Amino acid sequence: MTNTNERMPVLFVGHGSPMNAIENNEYTKGWEMIAREIPRPRAILSISAHWYTNGSKITDAANPKMIYDMYGFPDELYQVVYKAVGAPELAQLTKTLIEKEVQIDNTWGCDHGTWSVLSKMYPEGDIPTFQLSIDADAKPESHFKIGQQISSLREKGVLIFGSGNIVHNLARINWNMKGGYPWAVDFDGYIRDKILRNQFEDVVNYKMAGESSKSAFNTPDHFCPLLYVLGAVKEDDQVSIFNEACMLGAMSMTSYLFE
Ligand code: ZN
Repeated sequence: MTNTNERMPVLFVGHGSPMNAIENNEYTKGWEMIAREIPRPRAILSISAHWYTNGSKITDAANPKMIYDMYGFPDELYQVVYKAVGAPELAQLTKTLIEKEVQIDNTWGCDHGTWSVLSKMYPEGDIPTFQLSIDADAKPESHFKIGQQISSLREKGVLIFGSGNIVHNLARINWNMKGGYPWAVDFDGYIRDKILRNQFEDVVNYKMAGESSKSAFNTPDHFCPLLYVLGAVKEDDQVSIFNEACMLGAMSMTSYLFE
């Protein structure tokens, strides 16, 4: 795809199992395809489900550390290195764009919500990458608002990258199931329809989906990255959906690109 527009796309990816980092499957192929299609970012701002903090935090280290925040997986997964440097100046700029307080915190670095996907999209690890946390205390509309406030980063060549899962209920995962439970498919479909109709306020108010919203997740950590991404979307962006699927009963891999 040619870059006729200076503005970078904005991307939400359903990351699923950390094992995707060392597997090749239909989802990782989707990630690789998107990386080939979009303009090459100058930097990536990752908003990962796995950095869920009290208040908003941002990393500005020149060399962010790898965070292996998953347990009981094969050794091979703990050898994965996504060697991207950080983006201290862009991190500082991002902090100033966000109207509420954001703390610099380099005790975190690059977690598996970020590296499991980006090590497939950009295996060379040659694009500076930094992370903004999800404020666990914030209401859904506050996440969306932060997305709006950081949207101008797109004009500076920054790919705003949300990594989570629209449906993510670990307590109800069924390892023998290929697709999703009806409520998982319903919630995933509700979100898809609202996004396709540009009714983002109904995504922010996801409880309007009814019963399915009560089962989709117990904590919204994996859902929230989508709200940041939608906040950063501009009126004339076009959406493409990829990796649209529910799996293991209680997880959605459905992903959205806006450009
Ligand atoms: Zn996750």
